[in-house]
Amino acid sequence: MTAIQPARTDIIEVRNPADGLVVGTVPIHTADEVAATVRELRLYQTEWEAIGAKARGEWLLKFQDWMLDNSERIADVLQSETSKPRFDAELETPMVADIVGYYAKRAPGYLADSRPHPHSPLGMTKKLAIAHRPYPVVGVITPWNFPFTMPGMDIPPALAAGCAVLLKPSEVTPLSGVLFVEGWKEIGAPPVLAVATGLGATGAAVVENVDYVQFTGSTRTGKAIAKAAAERLVPCSLELGGKDPAIVLADADIDRAAHGIAWGGLFNSGQVCISVERVYVEASVHDEFVAKLAANVSKLRQGKDDRDFKFDVGALATPDQVQIVKKHVDDAIAAGARALTGGKPRGDGNFFEPTVLVDVEQSMSCIKEETFGPTIPVVKVADEAEAIRLANDSEYGLSATVWTGDNARGERIARQLDAGAVNINDAFSNMMSFALPMGGWKESGIGARMGGAAAVLKYTRSQAITTPRIPTAAKELTWFPYSKPKARFAFGAMRAGAARGLRKFGIAR
Ligand code: NAD
Repeated sequence: MTAIQPARTDIIEVRNPADGLVVGTVPIHTADEVAATVRELRLYQTEWEAIGAKARGEWLLKFQDWMLDNSERIADVLQSETSKPRFDAELETPMVADIVGYYAKRAPGYLADSRPHPHSPLGMTKKLAIAHRPYPVVGVITPWNFPFTMPGMDIPPALAAGCAVLLKPSEVTPLSGVLFVEGWKEIGAPPVLAVATGLGATGAAVVENVDYVQFTGSTRTGKAIAKAAAERLVPCSLELGGKDPAIVLADADIDRAAHGIAWGGLFNSGQVCISVERVYVEASVHDEFVAKLAANVSKLRQGKDDRDFKFDVGALATPDQVQIVKKHVDDAIAAGARALTGGKPRGDGNFFEPTVLVDVEQSMSCIKEETFGPTIPVVKVADEAEAIRLANDSEYGLSATVWTGDNARGERIARQLDAGAVNINDAFSNMMSFALPMGGWKESGIGARMGGAAAVLKYTRSQAITTPRIPTAAKELTWFPYSKPKARFAFGAMRAGAARGLRKFGIAR
């Protein structure tokens, strides 16, 4: 008789969500191991900063070459642990390679010292500089939905800034993150990038040891990290959950809106922080829009893809995720909504049918709570004003889309929406524009990633440096001993620099 083996507590078995088969294992790193890794990264970071932004850029470009040369290998690993369609899996590598190249080439310019002019005549004796010095070790903690892209959005600008980085990938999909770090090793780059795998406790240990925390994940975990980071007085940037609205106006190209919202809501099975999670449609085009949307969604092919690009939609990452989606759909139907297509788990693996819900009310859980699944709930609204009001009626504020035949009207509406990004007549285009910041408002986060220079400079501390511009005397004017003539001269000069009109010369009006 074979004894039942207890589950190992020192490793994580990674499973394919479509069939539950184990596709790999990773260790669960302890808090002590994380602390030791950070200590080691700290040692190598000094030299990494010292070689300068240009030399770091060269390493990043070699890393980019590695990614492009290994894109099939990366897609295979991504697919094995996420069950993404091949299209979605293959998309991640060129996107990350693009980000790596963007920062490799631009970071030297962003990191150049700023040299502001002194603001007053007294200050003219000094040369001023602002140096951008890296936080030594950055912890990047990522979720499971884009296991290669998530590290790929945040790690390259941090490395470019001169930081060492410790990645903590999600326990659900750690293999792609491990491969990301393996790639850095394979090119022979300095050992300033490491990975710690494990559960939440490993992530908490990362927060306990690093100098800056870049977190992407749920709002609940984000709040716990903000508290832990505050306790240590280390900064954190939090990219959290969303419940992104789409507004479809009567003047919109309804065919484009119905295609764009099908993709924006169901890409990656809806497991995208900025996926369309609720739709507000003007009453006059509601029936036409939902008929077209449901027709598009019902044609989607769902299944476990291989390298043949046979499917559009895959499985959800975990059984828990299926239960959240099911609850939101069941709640809605029990309260009077209808599923025009889909509406239930498929019964195998973690598949949930792509679903369009109509007759949806603002009070339903499918509108109030983040679903993170393949559902598109549609609410009929009277007009633009009601659409804006309901879109803003959410604790989240990550991104939004507006579908209209009038781009100027779209921009005007964008400026009334409480969201970190608004795409007009498109979905996700903000994320593909690296010059734009990607950050959430309200419960969707603090800070932002990307955004041109800001993406690199956020990983640095500003260091103010003053140097004498003229030969120095034994004493400065304001040093001891104090005297009335010194006071009159020094404060008069300050007054002359600061005041308006005759007050410059000590004359009150
Ligand atoms: P999660 O919060 O459960 O986990 C994210 C990561 O945090 C994992 O690596 C996990 O191990 C780690 N973690 C858990 N507890 C921790 C703790 N106390 N201290 C430190 N680390 C800890 O999120 P998830 O379920 O993996 O991902 C889904 C969520 O991520 C969704 O809410 C989604 O909206 C969000 N997300 C946001 C963005 C964005 O850019 N705003 C992008 C992708 C996903």
